[in-house]
Amino acid sequence: MGRDGDRTERARAVIRRLARTYPDASIALVFSNPFELLVATMLSAQSTDTKVNEVTATLFSKYRRPDDFLAVPEDELKDDIHPTGFFNQKARALRAMSHRLLENFDGEVPSAIADLVTLPGVARKTANIVQANAYPQVARRDRDAGIAVDTHVGRLAVRLGLTDHGSKDADKIEHDLMGSIAKKDRLRATNLFIEHGRRICTAKRPLCGDCAIERLCPSSQRAGLIDRYRLARG
Ligand code: SF4
Repeated sequence: MGRDGDRTERARAVIRRLARTYPDASIALVFSNPFELLVATMLSAQSTDTKVNEVTATLFSKYRRPDDFLAVPEDELKDDIHPTGFFNQKARALRAMSHRLLENFDGEVPSAIADLVTLPGVARKTANIVQANAYPQVARRDRDAGIAVDTHVGRLAVRLGLTDHGSKDADKIEHDLMGSIAKKDRLRATNLFIEHGRRICTAKRPLCGDCAIERLCPSSQRAGLIDRYRLARG
C-alpha cells in the first residue's frame, strides 16, 4: 500500500499503523456522564482540552444537571467558565441547550444524531463526539452517525488525500471520510488523527521524518511532495 492507492484501503492502513503508534489514544476531555461530555465539548470550542478539564474539575460539582445552568444568573455562569474563552456565547449556548434538554428530552442528553443537532450550540462535530463517546452502541446503528471533524482531523484528511475538499469544509470532509472509513473504525480514527495531529502532523511544521504513516502520505515533506493542506489554504 503506497501513497496513491485506493482511498478506503489507504485509510485502513493509516488507521492500522496509527493504532500501533498510539495504542492508548482516546478523548482527552474528562467526563463521567453524557451531560458532562456535552458541556465539556461545548466549552472546548476555541479552547484546549487541558483548559476545559481544569475548569470542569470544579464546574461539574456545581452544575450537575441542566436545571443547574438555569438556576444561576448568567453572569455567574460566565465567571465560572471564563477561562475557556468566548464565555458570553458559551454561557448563552449552555443555558439554551439546558433549556431545550428540559423542554424536549426530560433533561436527558439524547443519543441520536438527529436529536443532538436540534440542541442550541450543537452542530455535527459536537453531536458526533457526544454520541461516539457516550453512546457507542447507538453510534454503530445510527444512520446519521459520522466522524467528528475538528481542526486536526480536517488537516490530516487533507494531507492524507482522504478528501477532495479544503480543511475548512468540515461537513464535506466528514462526508468523504464516511465514504472511506468503516463505521466501527470511526471513533478510533478520530482519536488517532487528533493524537497524530497534535504530536507529529502539526499545522505549521509536520515532522514527516518521524511520522509512522509517511509512506502512505501524499503530502510527505520528507519525500519532497506538496503539502496539500498548505496548498488548499493558499
Ligand atoms: S508524512 Fe508529514 S504530512 Fe504526512 S501525515 Fe506524516 S507528518 Fe503529516
